[in-house]
Amino acid sequence: MNNNINKTLIIGLGLIGGSLAKALKLNRQFGQIVGYDRDPEETQKGLQIGVIDIAADSLAEAVEQADLIVLAVPVKAMEKVLGDIAPFIAEETLITDVGSTKANVVAAAQRVFSSLPTGFVPGHPIAGSEKSGVDAADETLFEQHKVILTPLAESSSEAVNLLTLMWQSTGAEVLKMDVEKHDEVLAATSHLPHLLAFSLVDTLAQEQDNNTDIFRYAAGGFRDFTRIAGSDPTMWHDICLANKEAILAQLDCFIRGVSRLRTAIDSSDSESLLGTFTRARAAREHFSRILSGTAYSQDMSDQNVTFHTQPGGSVNGRIRVPGDKSISHRSIMLGSLADGVTEVTGFLEGEDSLATLQSFRDMGVVIEGPTDGEVTIYGVGLNGLKEPPGPIYVGNSGTSMRLLSGLLAAQSFDTELTGDASLTKRPMGRVADPLRLMGAEIETADNGRPPLKIKGGQKLSGIHYDMPMASAQVKSCLLLAGLYADGETSVTEPAPTRDHTERMLTGFGYPVKQDGSTAAVSSGGQLHATRIDVPADISSATFFMVAAAIAPGSDLTLEHVGINPTRIGIINILRLMGADLELQNEREVGGEPVADIRIKYAPLKGIHIPEDQVPLAIDEFPALFVAAACAEGTTIVSGAEELRVKESDRIQSMVDGLKALGVDIEGTPDGAIIQGGEIGGGVVESHDDHRIAMSFCVASLRATAEITINECQNVATSFPGFVELAQTAGIKVEKEEG
Ligand code: NAP
Repeated sequence: MNNNINKTLIIGLGLIGGSLAKALKLNRQFGQIVGYDRDPEETQKGLQIGVIDIAADSLAEAVEQADLIVLAVPVKAMEKVLGDIAPFIAEETLITDVGSTKANVVAAAQRVFSSLPTGFVPGHPIAGSEKSGVDAADETLFEQHKVILTPLAESSSEAVNLLTLMWQSTGAEVLKMDVEKHDEVLAATSHLPHLLAFSLVDTLAQEQDNNTDIFRYAAGGFRDFTRIAGSDPTMWHDICLANKEAILAQLDCFIRGVSRLRTAIDSSDSESLLGTFTRARAAREHFSRILSGTAYSQDMSDQNVTFHTQPGGSVNGRIRVPGDKSISHRSIMLGSLADGVTEVTGFLEGEDSLATLQSFRDMGVVIEGPTDGEVTIYGVGLNGLKEPPGPIYVGNSGTSMRLLSGLLAAQSFDTELTGDASLTKRPMGRVADPLRLMGAEIETADNGRPPLKIKGGQKLSGIHYDMPMASAQVKSCLLLAGLYADGETSVTEPAPTRDHTERMLTGFGYPVKQDGSTAAVSSGGQLHATRIDVPADISSATFFMVAAAIAPGSDLTLEHVGINPTRIGIINILRLMGADLELQNEREVGGEPVADIRIKYAPLKGIHIPEDQVPLAIDEFPALFVAAACAEGTTIVSGAEELRVKESDRIQSMVDGLKALGVDIEGTPDGAIIQGGEIGGGVVESHDDHRIAMSFCVASLRATAEITINECQNVATSFPGFVELAQTAGIKVEKEEG
């Protein structure tokens, strides 16, 4: 590789400097590795044990010759070292550091340099051990660990790119963050835990008379919790002073939490204790999932998933697809507000519904699970929610944020609702505005965007609201607020939207008045705990319905599928195309109609899809395009312009993909014209859109050659276990990760 780095100088040959030097020396991508330590013996040792190529005698000379300089000294020594090297640094030299705190290193650099060099990019490897000194150097220390770079306004993009490559060459994953955020995050996740470990060992050692016994009999918990108290005291002394403010803020927050627990124990408050422990355990699982998947690691799309399908086959047997997302959200909300214990089965364990679950745990509701889709909710009643310990984070879930805002507007305590970067861009005015009409006090960021700061203790009054746009989320939000508002709250919708909230309220025994397109509730009622077997999601079932409809020899039964009238467009359309589809065992569960759907292969014919069915099947169109490509004759889709603003432009994605497989298809502004015929093989792009990926997987049943589908990583979030279920049913698909 030619990166113009001929000499890399590492200043400070301790654990981190030595480990980096050794990794770079071995991979040979960053020139010769020169080492310098203030203790010449340490530098010589580095040379002898093969950590560096050259031991520098003179710091000035080494700096003049270096293309890249890494400062690996204690944070307290950074300013002195920067001052020592400043006179000898060339303009184009790259400089970085490995310090555990960042604001103080940047402040030191600002004092040393009149203007910050463009080659300066501070960094921090999130890797280490309790050892120190060059003897502890380990070239694998950074493998599969994160390194945070904190580029400054002055940092050039070339410098950032080269330093990214440098850390990647050691096997690390590189993230970028601003300096302040870094110090805040590290104060909470690293500095505070170290401080607590040191403090616990010290307190027990000093204050207990029988401390020898305590240490002799110390059980695993003590050992695990205090392992990090074996770290270098000087380093931690330096870090505490260097990141004083952020650490104090975290410490205060922690002290408040501990004193709440103290009070709970003192007053034998089992509910609080159990609540804290269950919440903490669930939060740990929730955040580990987020940590390994999305939020903290730079982006999920780094981890690519490709589907490879073999042509032909048929689908047979009985299968059950995951639970409906909308209903999963609502089961947690209403279960939490009910009196008594609600048992939920078939809960969709996706990021979004888990975010709702976590929100209610934050508000003191004890919720067990989910384990294999089973959740037990110990309802606290309509007025039993408690103030959450901090802002409620709902990740990427718009449903959680919009529905919760209605409930929270009526609570006695203040709350703040936040989400991830993409949710933070979405409009919340559509719920905040009508809630304000009811008397809610809600502050939003610019243009009505999250975070939402909701003031507690407001008296809400019922209103009648004519929704300007058809939105199930807005309707549900207002009806939930209406449970607490004086008088009646009614909502009229301009076009039918999903009515899961109304149905589930009824399922929990709460009266809902339905008059044409108007739904209304009045306060003063009560929710009674119930059992909810969340129906399988009809949108997920669609892929298998289409699979059976197009593949000769298929006979498949999809169990317990939700057939809410606002969602059954796919059944109507497939029947119009000639599909052999039968609803069996129709019943009602928690207010929702469900059925087993049996579908057998029968030749399909092309149709003009009636526009009144489009809103009832809007998510199902990618799969319907595949059905149309296998039908005899022409299928016309119109009135479906909304498809262009989904997770991808679904019209374009399907047109491009089907064309790549040799299908005669033409996109129109609000749909497409598809000629049925043969499907060939080839490579298609799913554009990170889970429904596009799954649709092409289904197309393989009628393809004449292998189809490779790129960018399928999002399938796992919306439809956990899709590939395994598809294989069980008979689709020949394999998943490649990497
Ligand atoms: P270490 O093993 O003690 O190494 C630091 C080295 O720097 C020692 O050899 C030290 O020499 C030398 N040094 C001190 N002042 C110097 C100066 N003015 N000029 C040249 N050399 C000097 O410490 P470390 O664990 O590698 O930590 C180094 C940096 O990495 C720190 O900023 C720390 O915050 C950061 N870091 C550490 C970890 C971790 O887990 N250890 C993790 C991430 C980041 P003496 O021995 O003579 O003092």
